[in-house]
Amino acid sequence: MSKLNREIAPECTKCSKKINGYTGLESGSKPSKGDISICFYCANVMTFTENLDVRPMTFEEIDNLEHSVYVPVMATVLAIKNR
Ligand SMILES: [Zn+2]
Repeated sequence: MSKLNREIAPECTKCSKKINGYTGLESGSKPSKGDISICFYCANVMTFTENLDVRPMTFEEIDNLEHSVYVPVMATVLAIKNR
């Protein structure tokens, strides 16, 4: 895990909270198109667009995630919903 970055601030498509920080698996990495974002407030699963805005992921897109991605995404969603 790595640094918090406040350069971008799209809004959650579900609860409208500002997404004003993120962490990546690699130090210093920045989000890019297709990366996944999970809202810390409501556990909404989104994906970054070309211009680093976000849009909600469809159930089909989530279902089609590789197992190595799907498992930590779902674990994070459950952790947020159960806190
Ligand atoms: Zn949200």
